[in-house]
Amino acid sequence: MQLRIYDTLQRQIVPLSTERPGEVRMYTCGPTVYRPVHLGNLRSYLLADWLRRTLTSFGYEVAAVKNVTDVGHMRQDAVDRGEDKVIAAALAEGKTPQEIARSYERAFREDERRIGILPAAHFPRATEHVPEMIALIERLLAHGLAYTVDGTVYFAVRRFPGYGKLSGNIGEALKRGVRVEVDPQKRNTADFALWKKGEAGRALVWDSPWGPGFPGWHIECSAMSTKYLGERFDLHTGGVDNIFPHHEDEIAQSEGALGHPVVRHWVHGQHLLADGVKMAKSAKNTLTVDEMIELGIDPLAFRYQCLLTHYRTRMHFSLGALRQAAEALDHLRQRVRHWSQLADGELADRRHERWLERFREALADDLNLPKALAWLHQCAADPEISERAKLEVVLEADRILGLDLASVASEHAKAPREVLAGVEEHVAARVAGDYGRADGLRATFDGYRVDDQTEDRAVVSRADRRVAARTRRTISSAKELPDRASRAASRSWSVAIVTRDWADDLARCLRSVLAYLPRDGEVIVLDSGSRADAQDRLIELASGDPRVTAILADRDLGEGAARNALLRLARGRFVLQLDPSVELAGDLFAVLATALADGRVGLAGPWGLRTSDLKHYDEATAGDVDAMQGYCAAARRDVFQQIGFDERYRFYRNLDIATSLAARERGYRIVATGVDRARRHAHRAWEALSEDERLKRSRKNFDRMWKRFHGRPDLLVGKSA
Ligand code: AMP
Ligand code: ZN
Repeated sequence: MQLRIYDTLQRQIVPLSTERPGEVRMYTCGPTVYRPVHLGNLRSYLLADWLRRTLTSFGYEVAAVKNVTDVGHMRQDAVDRGEDKVIAAALAEGKTPQEIARSYERAFREDERRIGILPAAHFPRATEHVPEMIALIERLLAHGLAYTVDGTVYFAVRRFPGYGKLSGNIGEALKRGVRVEVDPQKRNTADFALWKKGEAGRALVWDSPWGPGFPGWHIECSAMSTKYLGERFDLHTGGVDNIFPHHEDEIAQSEGALGHPVVRHWVHGQHLLADGVKMAKSAKNTLTVDEMIELGIDPLAFRYQCLLTHYRTRMHFSLGALRQAAEALDHLRQRVRHWSQLADGELADRRHERWLERFREALADDLNLPKALAWLHQCAADPEISERAKLEVVLEADRILGLDLASVASEHAKAPREVLAGVEEHVAARVAGDYGRADGLRATFDGYRVDDQTEDRAVVSRADRRVAARTRRTISSAKELPDRASRAASRSWSVAIVTRDWADDLARCLRSVLAYLPRDGEVIVLDSGSRADAQDRLIELASGDPRVTAILADRDLGEGAARNALLRLARGRFVLQLDPSVELAGDLFAVLATALADGRVGLAGPWGLRTSDLKHYDEATAGDVDAMQGYCAAARRDVFQQIGFDERYRFYRNLDIATSLAARERGYRIVATGVDRARRHAHRAWEALSEDERLKRSRKNFDRMWKRFHGRPDLLVGKSA
């Protein structure tokens, strides 16, 4: 069959053509080994793996190469700042850069194995190919495509006519595409470093014709791809973030040096997002294979989850969805066991070929794995073909899907003799009606599970391949919580806290709240997707005082949704929404209750804000204000219920302003009550974010708030008075 695939360079789906008949040589941009790879990286490597498996099944001989960016590599921004992530990580961990790189490389290979990715034929390391990189740079200099300034060599982008053809970054777009930076040595801001002079004292430098230094970010892939795959090869893959500048620059280097096109097809996979943004270490929203295993989730569940989204579509990651994928995979595995252990002797007929045909057609159509998987599910439900035939179809298809179903199919055959003997006895006891004995025998199925089917048949499965029963109840949505909103208040105060990680801060906050909370008050803490250790801590904290209830969500529900979830549960006449960064220093409840006793007052709290334009805010801690900061804001329960929290705010910033202005809209006053009974500490969730991430998330929320309220200056205290 002929694979048709979207080629980034040609900007359309094209038939995959190869340099040599029946042979595909492919190169994949691999990991930077100064940290563990995360599921986002793995999504890109899965794309390469599925392409490779599909091509193999379509009859091609595939040679796959994936580079390992070890010591000496620097992303361009790091090059510009003269820092190397591998070296920095090594220093931080007290190891040599080499040790760091090797240990993360091993971990990466292990992660690939656990997620069912076939190992590449070569994993060339950048540090072992510096002479090849130097040779390429020399060719570029000889062709007049590069220039040297004081020990650093730059690629002269303007001298290479095809520059921009992959990314479309040409002319003005190119100026916008490159980071604004100060490097007075460059002739043109778009030029990029091929070789960088090693500054004095730098640990890792190589000799070169231009003096001691180290390679730029992109040159390794030009050097290693052509070394292992030849000067013309078929397929180059990576994530979409690689398109510019990495692959654009790779094309310029390779074609500039060799004088002809090098890569036939460029294929890029869309990103894996978490909390709405690209999964990346800097965004602190990553999950690794090790962490999946810690959560008790089979790594192959992520592989299954990725099958559900086409590679050119952004994929939203959530633990809830991952758990669902784990359950779907569990279900598929059980069917395979069923078919392999119970199917009767009828042979597969040719009708099952029809299903495989459809499966392959879906793959041939721009690697449409979601559709291919859907065909398989239909096949599984087809009453026209035998279970034997279904098994055959699924196992054949799994050579591409890579879910390791063949070993699931052989679990019974490979089970130890004692286990099988126990199972036989168990079934015999059931047939004899001796259910007590049958159940008693379960103790002998060490490491295996036995599911009774009919009276005289059972299915054996390896326990470690089954989805474990969830040990801790978590919610995936507020709808799973009881809604007490319509019931009369039965407590004086409800303190509503949303927490995520940073368990020490939560402990400090809780301790202070419990010191002042009236006896008939309650604290409800919603954990919005912390890691297991922080959740354990919360449960421990909650168990210490009957007034505290802990709710665990399996992921970050988003700030607005989490606040509404707490509101559903709150039984207090008054509700105080509190951030774990706040510590009470006195009986704040008394002060707030007094302020809120006035029916015209909607919101009260220590830290208010005043503004005249919704852009600039001054903190005001006494008297009437325009908004109450969400770190510590109280209202009567019915007022919060009236206003509600806007769930489109996934991040906390500006949600408080939007909530306050909505209260103003309903005619309520907002009052600051003084700061002597509460203290603010560092807001770690904020501080842990990168500058970029802060901007991104704040801006989104600001725009939302601005759009809704900028036309209402009358709501502001100064204007309406
Ligand atoms: P890096 O180590 O950041 O150079 O990334 C290695 C590979 O993972 C590259 O092909 C990236 O395009 C890809 N990648 C990084 N983050 C993501 C993500 N969130 N989703 C999909 N692919 C990613
Ligand atoms: Zn690369």
